[in-house]
Amino acid sequence: MNPWKILGLKEDANFTTIKRAYRRLLRSCHPDLFPGDVWAQKRFIQISEAYHELCRMLNLDAIVVDDSFLFESFTSEGYSFLFIEVSVEEAFFGKRIHIELQGAEVKCPACDGLGYRWHGKRPVCKECAGKGYKLLSWGKSNIRIICKACGATGFSDQVKCKTCFGRGYIKRQREVFIKLPRGTLPGTILRIDGNSELGIGPAFIEIGIRFPENWRLSELDVTSQIELDLWDALLGGEVMVKTIDGNETLLIPPGTCDGHEFVLKGRGWIGENGKRGDHRIQIKISMPKTPPPPQARILLELLRGLWPVKGPACLTYKSICKTILPE
Ligand SMILES: [Zn+2]
Ligand SMILES: [Zn+2]
Repeated sequence: MNPWKILGLKEDANFTTIKRAYRRLLRSCHPDLFPGDVWAQKRFIQISEAYHELCRMLNLDAIVVDDSFLFESFTSEGYSFLFIEVSVEEAFFGKRIHIELQGAEVKCPACDGLGYRWHGKRPVCKECAGKGYKLLSWGKSNIRIICKACGATGFSDQVKCKTCFGRGYIKRQREVFIKLPRGTLPGTILRIDGNSELGIGPAFIEIGIRFPENWRLSELDVTSQIELDLWDALLGGEVMVKTIDGNETLLIPPGTCDGHEFVLKGRGWIGENGKRGDHRIQIKISMPKTPPPPQARILLELLRGLWPVKGPACLTYKSICKTILPE
């Protein structure tokens, strides 16, 4: 079917319109919104294939960021859907990642599908002497019971095929290396061609990113939070913060307020044009578990003396001091 029609587009639509239509249609059948729904899976494949076909036809970069739906891995109609988490580094710098695709089940070539391998004489089960059953006396007659030791095969377990673990078939696997685009965003969907020789269909890969705890990505800005003890916030000091470019020392000026945001300009995520967003570090002040150190006590007394004349600029700061110092 015509990919333009599937995406509901006129043939002169530009790339932005194509991308927008694809994203909108994805929402109508996304595997995460309709888990286990076969119709939705088929529709997802249809519109995704139409989109990728258009991109191939028009020689466009097919990468689309879906609004952070995460899909569970599943297979449908020969297609694989995989959700893969990569590190911040891999996504930011656009590194090569390794993916293993599972293909169809085929007869094990090592044992020719028997599940057992041996050299020379075929080793038999010692329990049943290779018969696969044992005889049990029952009155005047004997009854046969299945030999549990060999699972009625009559063969010794020792010769189980190590390639297929005795199953007789193996799953074909395909190792794929894909180079992530620089600044890959969470929710990016990539398509990988199948390999008919290995019985492996095409795959859609959705990328998730393992951000450190407390990190949020909004557009290209990274926001993280650090917790400061009240005394550290009052007296100032240095704290280590994690950034994309590594650990960094952040200077905390004395009297830093709760909710204050330090901005590391140009240290956020990276866009298509190579421009970087900012890294915003939010301060969360926690109630101290220790009594105020001498310097803090002097400072608090001093501030309390100043309030009636000229209150401190930060209200939060004032209220925190109030709860700590008795009237
Ligand atoms: Zn085998
Ligand atoms: Zn046996």
